[in-house]
Amino acid sequence: MTTYFNYPSKELQEELKSIAQAIVAPGKGILAADESVSTMGKRLKDIGVENTDDNRRAYRQLLFTTDDKLAENISGVILFHETLYQKADDGTPFVQLLKKKGIIPGIKVDSGVVPLMGSEDETTTQGLDNLAARCAQYKKDGCDFAKWRCVLKIGKNTPSYQSILENANVLARYASICQSERIVPIVEPEVLPDGDHDLDRAQKVTETVLAAVYKALNDHHVYLEGTLLKPNMVTAGQSAKKNTPEEIGLATVQALRRTVPSAVPGITFLSGGQSEEEATVNLSAINKVALLKPWALTFSYGRALQASVLKAWGGKKENVAAGQAELLKRARANALGCQGKYVAGSIPSFAGNASLFGNGDAAQGKYVAGSAGSDSGSLFIANHAY
Ligand code: 13P
Repeated sequence: MTTYFNYPSKELQEELKSIAQAIVAPGKGILAADESVSTMGKRLKDIGVENTDDNRRAYRQLLFTTDDKLAENISGVILFHETLYQKADDGTPFVQLLKKKGIIPGIKVDSGVVPLMGSEDETTTQGLDNLAARCAQYKKDGCDFAKWRCVLKIGKNTPSYQSILENANVLARYASICQSERIVPIVEPEVLPDGDHDLDRAQKVTETVLAAVYKALNDHHVYLEGTLLKPNMVTAGQSAKKNTPEEIGLATVQALRRTVPSAVPGITFLSGGQSEEEATVNLSAINKVALLKPWALTFSYGRALQASVLKAWGGKKENVAAGQAELLKRARANALGCQGKYVAGSIPSFAGNASLFGNGDAAQGKYVAGSAGSDSGSLFIANHAY
């Protein structure tokens, strides 16, 4: 086993580190707006809007033309391939709208999950082919960071060794390719909340998965200071009894302290189907845990930043401002949350406290041909895939 290797050049290290640090600057987090065409279709269907290119564009235009104040709380936006190349009504490319506000554009680069043969409905994530070339192009087109999501399921026999190892390794390959093209990789090993497992089981699975991910990142010589982690919060399964935010906060921070090196600048949680209010309250509780936390702990929310926006907009031109007001509110609430300062109920959510669980793509195990979107070839979509 060789132990000789090189980290990226000093210049590249500096570039990656400064992008990662800017994304997790105090009081800021990420808007995950990288829903695939099919996932966006589901969001639009919920508000009675047809899933056309132009409706998807109109919705993303609403997000990206929100008042410049948005940049006080949102440092980066994750885009889907299609959105990166769309323009506002006046012809301004979306990527320019974001950059003008000082928001960093990012891009989802995985092409969805596929089954692992012989497993109990487990998956790996595909998209490594041509990834270097795609990253090089995305960098030229204005993206400074990327996202790749892997999915792990808690069951009696899962996650299996096969899926833990495979998903850790593919995340590490993805991360090293991104860094070689000057893109900060957000490493997302999502342990799904589906099931009736308790908090303790979720914590142990999360620890095992993260330990494997950081071993693989080390094996692939990934420069940790130029990465971000996007994990699940540690919560009991959706059909189990709920824990308090304090219990969730402690379990989450313990799991991270045991597995995530302090060289990682930030951890940007996914919301995973929690309600908007819950996701913010839990983020705040995580930040309040009285243990040393060497990384920024912030948000990279999809559903928990957009449920109210979609509801307030409802696909109507006259409601664009109302939708934007909701986005500013949720961004502000989570900016407080990532500093441990959110007071429960203080920024009421238009979407109410409804769970957003199961609000994604097809249910697990269902075959959804071609549903992962443009660059895909992805055949299999796990629960609430992006
Ligand atoms: P949620 O916050 O809706 O879980 O999604 C974030 C995301 O980017 C998942 O990959």
